[in-house]
Amino acid sequence: NKEIHLVKRPEAAPTNEHIQIVEGEKPEPKEGEVLVQLLYVSVDPYMRGRMNDTKSYIPPFALNEPMQGGVIGEVVESHFSGLDQGDIVTGMLPWQEFSTVKGDQLRKIDPSLGPITYSLGLLGMPGLTAYFGLMDIGQPKQGETIVVSGAAGAVGTVVAQIGKIVGCHVVGIAGSDEKTSYLKETLGVDETINYKTENVAEALDKACPNGIDVYFDNVGGDISDAVYPRLNKFARIAQCGAIASYNVPNDQGPRMQMHLIKSSALVKGFTVGDYQDRFQEGFQHLSKWLQEGKLTYEETVKEGFDNIPDAFFGLFTGENLGKQLVKVNEP
Ligand code: NDP
Repeated sequence: NKEIHLVKRPEAAPTNEHIQIVEGEKPEPKEGEVLVQLLYVSVDPYMRGRMNDTKSYIPPFALNEPMQGGVIGEVVESHFSGLDQGDIVTGMLPWQEFSTVKGDQLRKIDPSLGPITYSLGLLGMPGLTAYFGLMDIGQPKQGETIVVSGAAGAVGTVVAQIGKIVGCHVVGIAGSDEKTSYLKETLGVDETINYKTENVAEALDKACPNGIDVYFDNVGGDISDAVYPRLNKFARIAQCGAIASYNVPNDQGPRMQMHLIKSSALVKGFTVGDYQDRFQEGFQHLSKWLQEGKLTYEETVKEGFDNIPDAFFGLFTGENLGKQLVKVNEP
């Protein structure tokens, strides 16, 4: 039973030096538990924060123990009345090929809602993050301009599309021409900026002739430094992520307070867990838009348990278009 352990805490970017694949015991399920075989693993930028030994909204990963996260698995043995052998489930499980878990910690996936992998993306944590961050904090109104950074990723692609559904001028910022073409041609985003090849400040002036009303920020760093001076009066900023800083200890940047005062803008940091009581609402909107053909979703899938670390590292170099997953086994 292979397991992926955190063996050293990274200072900067995570590499193979920090993670080790080790052979463990296959666990035995007790009463109320099920034995789950991994099918798909979600790798997520927030896991980088859990590699640090610091206080956060979620505890750090322990050293020399399996890392963990959102997965899809198949129940191979059940001692829990609510689940049967063969059920496809999702939940937070350790990165190991087989795990035991209390049955009530898992959710059975309804395959009629879309591909099962969407439970880790569009119809899961990233989709809900996009929905609540944009709708609740961003409060977009028809005709307004939304800028989304990290636009071609798991969260950003959903933000961009919801922005179009609610009738906004959507500007997506991403790190390659392949990604900006996808945003424009497949998702119908109005303007795109490749932050690796363009001057973001100048490109924003062109892309946002009426200024910026909503900024959905997945990345922080230099990109946000260019956005803040262009905020309109009463702009709203949904501070979702800051991936540009995750691997840069004590990252510093220009001060933005004056821009907030000048624009009377509202910035709100959030985690999707803040909206736990409203997940059903978000889920219903996302599923309805998916069924109506208003939402589409891209996934980048690596194959094989041993490639989970590489898939995770790739998030920090932008290897993924849409949601990055690892397929470990056939359902
Ligand atoms: P993505 O699928 O967007 O993957 C990460 C992407 O970030 C990469 O593909 C890359 O795209 C981009 N990136 C990496 N390094 C940098 C950098 N230095 N500067 C700019 N862009 C960079 O991940 P998610 O959609 O899952 O997450 C997006 C953000 O939202 C993350 O910051 C994450 O931590 C946060 N998040 C927050 C949640 C919350 O509850 N608040 C929940 C889920 C996610 P590119 O090629 O464009 O550089």
